[in-house]
Amino acid sequence: MSETRHTKVLIIGSGPAGYTAGVYAARAMLEPILVQGIEPGGQLTTTTEVENYPGFTEVQGPDLMIKMQEHAAAMGTEIIGDYITSLDTSARPFVAKADSGTTYTADAVILATGARAKWLGLESEEKFKGFGVSACATCDGFFYRGQEIVVIGGGNTAVEEALFLTNFASKVTLIHRRDELRAEKILQDRLFKNEKIETLWFHTLEEVVGTDNPLGVEGVVVKNVQTGEVKEIPCKGVFVAIGHAPANELVKDVLELHNGGYVKVKPGSTETSIPGIYAAGDLTDHKYRQAVTSAGMGCMAALDAERFLAEQE
Ligand code: FAD
Ligand code: NAP
Repeated sequence: MSETRHTKVLIIGSGPAGYTAGVYAARAMLEPILVQGIEPGGQLTTTTEVENYPGFTEVQGPDLMIKMQEHAAAMGTEIIGDYITSLDTSARPFVAKADSGTTYTADAVILATGARAKWLGLESEEKFKGFGVSACATCDGFFYRGQEIVVIGGGNTAVEEALFLTNFASKVTLIHRRDELRAEKILQDRLFKNEKIETLWFHTLEEVVGTDNPLGVEGVVVKNVQTGEVKEIPCKGVFVAIGHAPANELVKDVLELHNGGYVKVKPGSTETSIPGIYAAGDLTDHKYRQAVTSAGMGCMAALDAERFLAEQE
């Protein structure tokens, strides 16, 4: 049934930025509503150990996000399992329509929609998505027990995925287009020490090959970017870990963006180009993209929204 609900602060997104904004906005007595989206808890629910969130020497990503959700709820944030399909920012109160049919009107909006996995854009990648091609080792690693796997990418995600996949796979080949990783040194150390992992430098994925009936991966065709030589590597699983793109769909035509689609905010704040609309976390951050920086920006967004609402009164 469609209904309209009004809130002083609507928080869109349930990653570290959204939940932290919830904690602060609720404690400011703004009675915020937080809409979780299709990935409650955000990107950290797709990983295992998190070792760099202060206060936790080691915590499982999904557990950390449940704690954040409980914290936001305990402070008084109303958390709703729904997905915002459109946001009208042309007048205040802002109007957000949700997948369930509910319409939210809000005096201020905190955008915390984060980022989503990038894909290579190959036809064969699309064909085998969910049938051997994945962007989430935590979700799908278990299906490849005793089998050979390749991971594409050279950042923290690719290295962590490769390490995690050694729990299941007989061999993991990390394929990277350069001979230098972006990943943190501590992760690189673990990678190079792991006997199950082989690195293939200066190679790109050209095609995923496999069977049609049943649909399944049998290997990848890779190209040496220096010599142009092409070869096939047998494998049953392909994990694409080439980064994330900001989830800016709701606002890409109305807010100022920069650095390839990240929402631009005034330096040192979370103010976007529209007063009353704030952006926090990976949606606005092309540089740091960490759980703790996202949480920090969630806090800033709630404080910015609180000041804005006080000025309106
Ligand atoms: P996200 O976590 O991306 O969450 C976005 C939220 O927005 C989701 O809840 C989604 O459902 C919601 N959403 C999107 N669109 C809509 C919509 N239209 N309506 C409603 N809701 C919507 N960082 C670290 O600090 N340490 C780590 O160890 C670490 N490990 C990582 C491992 C992996 C595999 C990945 C992918 C990332 C990792 N990161 C890590 C990075 C970290 O996860 C991100 O920086 C952080 O999650 C960003 O938080 P966020 O709140 O901005 O958004
Ligand atoms: P990233 O740092 O942007 O790295 C992406 C990697 O994929 C790069 O090595 C890049 O190669 C490669 N790549 C990009 N496009 C490609 C293409 N079309 N073909 C082949 N290779 C391609 O992304 P990420 O690893 O997902 O990390 C994202 C953010 O989350 C980072 O800020 C990271 O620190 C954070 N994160 C943190 C942790 C942690 O703290 N433990 C864990 C995971 C993620 P080049 O190097 O050649 O550009």
